[in-house]
Amino acid sequence: MLKNCMEIIVLDTLESIKPDYRGMCQCNQCQMDILAMCLNKLPPLYITSDKGEMYAKLRELSPQFKVNVIQTVTEAVEVVMSHPRHHE
Ligand SMILES: [Zn+2]
Repeated sequence: MLKNCMEIIVLDTLESIKPDYRGMCQCNQCQMDILAMCLNKLPPLYITSDKGEMYAKLRELSPQFKVNVIQTVTEAVEVVMSHPRHHE
């Protein structure tokens, strides 16, 4: 089974920046829009289902890469916040 590790990284990053975006919609649609937008921009990081392999991959990520991920997630949050695909 293949898993895109990037999905976990993006979700983790989203959780960590959420306190800075208190006005952000918490609904599933907006969360999925943010996730999809990020995963379309960032390179996929496929691994097999082995957890050890996943943590090894995460450790390999450079600080610059992490900065890029945070920036991409932040941009996606801002886009979805200003243009949610649903009405209040
Ligand atoms: Zn929403």
